[in-house]
Amino acid sequence: MVRVCVRRNSDSQHSRAIYEAIKGICYQKQCPNEERILRFVLREFDWKPADILKQLHFAVEDGLFRESIAISHKGSKKGNEQMSYRIINTDNAVELDANGNSQAEELRPDEDSGHDWYCFDCQESGEVILCEFCPRVFHRKCAKAHYISQEEHWKCPSCKVGEENNSMSSLPKEKVAKMLEFTIKRLREKFSELTKHVSIEHCPDYDLYINHSTDLSCIETDVVEEKFASPGQFLEELKYILHNAIIYFGDDDEFTVMAEELIEDAKQEIEEMLLCPDCYYLSNSKPKDWFCQPCNPPHELVWAQMKSQPPWPAKVSSYFPFTGGGLVNSGARGNS
Ligand SMILES: [Zn+2]
Ligand SMILES: [Zn+2]
Ligand SMILES: [Zn+2]
Repeated sequence: MVRVCVRRNSDSQHSRAIYEAIKGICYQKQCPNEERILRFVLREFDWKPADILKQLHFAVEDGLFRESIAISHKGSKKGNEQMSYRIINTDNAVELDANGNSQAEELRPDEDSGHDWYCFDCQESGEVILCEFCPRVFHRKCAKAHYISQEEHWKCPSCKVGEENNSMSSLPKEKVAKMLEFTIKRLREKFSELTKHVSIEHCPDYDLYINHSTDLSCIETDVVEEKFASPGQFLEELKYILHNAIIYFGDDDEFTVMAEELIEDAKQEIEEMLLCPDCYYLSNSKPKDWFCQPCNPPHELVWAQMKSQPPWPAKVSSYFPFTGGGLVNSGARGNS
C-alpha cells in the first residue's frame, strides 16, 4: 500500500524566520501578532508580506506554532483581543509568553510514522510519498515515480541505490567497510566542521525541522559497524548532512556550501573506488610493494609521462572512448 500524504505545508526557511521573529518579539515583552511578526521578518528578508502570512498559517496547521488570543493591557487598545502566535515546546525549546517568561507546557508538534517532513531530493514541503524501507520522503516528480501501483511497497531512490550492480557488488561487507574507512577519514580531515552535531543549545528549534540529524563522526561509526553494503548506500547517508543543512540553514549558508562540497568530494572518491576497487584499496592501505600487486582483473601496464617529468610505470584504469586516450593510475600517487 503506497502512502502518499502532506507531511508539512510550510517552507522551512519561512518558518525559521517566523520562529526568530516570535522569539524576538517576546523578548521585547511584546505580543507576537501578525503585524509585528511581518515587520520583524521583513527587516531581514525581502519576501512578499502575503507569502509570509500564508507561511505563518501553514506553519500553524503543521503544528510548528500555535495561535492564542491575547488581551491588550495597555494604551487605547486596552481590553482588545488580538491573535498572537506562540512557539511550541520541544524537549529543548522553550515556550515564551508575552512577558518573555517560559511556560512549561508540553506539546509535541508531531508524533507519527517518524518520516521526514521534507523531500529528500529538493528539501521542499508538500505532498510526498513515504518510503516503506527508510524515513525518507519524496515528491512524485523528484522520485520520478509517476506511476506506482497502489499495492506496491514503495522503495525510495536512496534505498534502491543498494540494489545497483557494480564492480563492488560481489565484495564482502568487511572489505567495503575497509575501503569506506579510507574515504570517511579523508572527508573528516578536510571537513572538520562537519564532524560534530549541530548544537541544540545554539539551534533550539533544530529538531522541529531535522528528522535525522547526523554528522561525519556518526557516519564513521556506521562505516566501522559495517552498516553500508555499498558505497552508494554510504553516499545516501552522507547526503543527509546536505539535506539537513539546506532545510535548517538555507541554500546560501556557508555550512550548506561546505556540505555541497563534501558530497562532490565523496562522489569523486566513490567514482575512483568503483573504477577499480583493488587500486583504491591498495593505494590507500599501501602494503609493501603495493604497486607491483596485480588487480583483479589486471590492468594493462604502460609507461606514463607528464610534461618534463621522467616516465613512470602505470596501470591503465580506463580508456576515453573517442580520443583513444587512457586514464592511468601511476605508481607515483602514493609516494608523492
Ligand atoms: Zn522534491
Ligand atoms: Zn527509502
Ligand atoms: Zn586496479
